[in-house]
Amino acid sequence: MNTRPPAEFAALIDNLRDFIDTEVILREDLRHAHDSEAVERTAAELYAIARSRGLGAPRARQEDGGLALSWTECCAYLEQAGRSFLGPQALRCAPPTQPDVFALDRLGSPAQRARYLEPLMRGERKSCFAMTEPAPGVGSDPRMLRTSARREGDGWVIDGHKWFISGAMRADFAIVVARTESGPSWFLVDVDTPGFERVRNIPTMEPFDMGGHAEIRITGCRVGADALVGEEGQGAAHSQLRLEGARLFHCMRYIGLASRAMDIAQAYALERESQGVPLADHQMVQAMVADAHIQLYAARQITLDVAHRLDAGTSIRHHSSMAKVFVSEAVYQVADSAVQICGALGVSEDVPVSMILRMLRPFRIYDGASEVHRAAIARRALRHRMSA
Ligand SMILES: Cc1cc2nc3c(=O)[nH]c(=O)nc-3n(C[C@H](O)[C@H](O)[C@H](O)COP(=O)(O)OP(=O)(O)OC[C@H]3O[C@@H](n4cnc5c(N)ncnc54)[C@H](O)[C@@H]3O)c2cc1C
Repeated sequence: MNTRPPAEFAALIDNLRDFIDTEVILREDLRHAHDSEAVERTAAELYAIARSRGLGAPRARQEDGGLALSWTECCAYLEQAGRSFLGPQALRCAPPTQPDVFALDRLGSPAQRARYLEPLMRGERKSCFAMTEPAPGVGSDPRMLRTSARREGDGWVIDGHKWFISGAMRADFAIVVARTESGPSWFLVDVDTPGFERVRNIPTMEPFDMGGHAEIRITGCRVGADALVGEEGQGAAHSQLRLEGARLFHCMRYIGLASRAMDIAQAYALERESQGVPLADHQMVQAMVADAHIQLYAARQITLDVAHRLDAGTSIRHHSSMAKVFVSEAVYQVADSAVQICGALGVSEDVPVSMILRMLRPFRIYDGASEVHRAAIARRALRHRMSA
């Protein structure tokens, strides 16, 4: 399904690897952790350099400054981009923008495309996706959605409470998931609409959270009829569509981040000595290195397989769940081993390994916790008597 000849694609990946090594990682300032503004300024500077090198957003159309890569090609591209905290941001393929673009491109009306999607793709506006709610609202169980939207006049009035909404502190608009008479629905809401209030940023363990994770109160928030995205009552299907691609992109870029952590650990193991020999000569260290290579190899293959399926247009529901569980746990284990090999330095912020570990941990919770995916995988396997 590749859209580029292999030699041309290999040159693109070499170009990207060089860009990440010589421009992006050099500008990674670990003191900018939790400073979205500083990260954004650096990312904007890097995007200009990326464009001058023929690099850009992997999935966006060429006429929009993108590379129009297949999902399969994205695996190698995102892995390279993901080696740096700043890479996906610098290439305009960081969440929530990337999955929001993907979903709005499929679902947006011509007016919504002009007002939201196109400025989003040009980097002129920022989005966020607001689904999760504090108890007793929706978390792992989508049926617990409480935010509501009721018809009034020729528009809608939305009421609800959301939290952990990534990017919301710096977003211009939100895709709000709300319950309507016919089921969950999606609405586009500008953040300056009266009744839409970002209460606070919720600090998390993620050092580079790109626009925070906001708590949002929505009180009597009036939007027009044209705020409804796609068909009323189809919000669950829309969310599924958005999530499948989002999960895969996370897998790809986090393989890059985990692989970088292990590269740092391997370099440390070759330099640092214990009992008169380099750490690299100790078999228990070697076992951690070997397991990391096995885990990353398997993580790449499973991700690539799901990407092939997505390119082929087949359903990836079951396979993307398996990939999400496997990759989120594998990359975390690799980063944890990297911390262990680096000893005290590994838990410090002198090197990025501990920050990588902190970036990877939440992935076992968002986009479906491992337990929820395992339950769904087992349910399908047992109900349809699937052979393992
Ligand atoms: C860093 C980060 C960014 C996020 N960004 C966004 C965002 O941009 N937009 C958004 O809408 N949401 C976002 N979320 C929220 C995320 O989608 C939710 O955390 C996730 O859906 C789980 O919901 P919950 O946290 O309420 O967990 P809960 O539903 O409270 O579950 C807690 C734990 O219970 C267990 N559990 C739950 N259900 C089951 C089950 N059926 N079977 C077995 N075990 C179960 C799991 O171990 C789970 O981790 C983000 C979360 C994080 C951490």
